[in-house]
Amino acid sequence: MIVLPTVHADAIRRHGEADHPHECCGLLLGQFAGSADGGAPVKTVVETYAISNAREETAKRNRFLITPQELMRGEKHARSRKLDVIGFYHSHPDCPAVPSKFDLDHAWPTYSYVIVSVMAARAAELLSWELEDDRSRFRPETIA
Ligand SMILES: [Zn+2]
Repeated sequence: MIVLPTVHADAIRRHGEADHPHECCGLLLGQFAGSADGGAPVKTVVETYAISNAREETAKRNRFLITPQELMRGEKHARSRKLDVIGFYHSHPDCPAVPSKFDLDHAWPTYSYVIVSVMAARAAELLSWELEDDRSRFRPETIA
């Protein structure tokens, strides 16, 4: 489960709308906490961290790319705020908020992957996904 306060969900939607028809992307910063029933940790988003998109025009439209340098900058910022990188967000311009094969191939376990569908420059569905332990597929994650 991921706790995503409305203010941060809205920030992701606005970023997706601003970058349409390109994909936007960014980091989800916050905390991991043990769940009450001892199950999977609950993630709480405290801050979103916008990252510029890939430089290549061809890549902009259909995949999100975060360079190691950008990720390192984001992690440094997170540490300065005593937060962890708990996931990633990106937009799907004019496509459903469902992970692509590219997303699956570039995902890591434990993190949350929030995807916002942006249809004709207006944010639509926003969903969160987690990688299955065997990395074969994503499973939907409850957003609270
Ligand atoms: Zn995607």
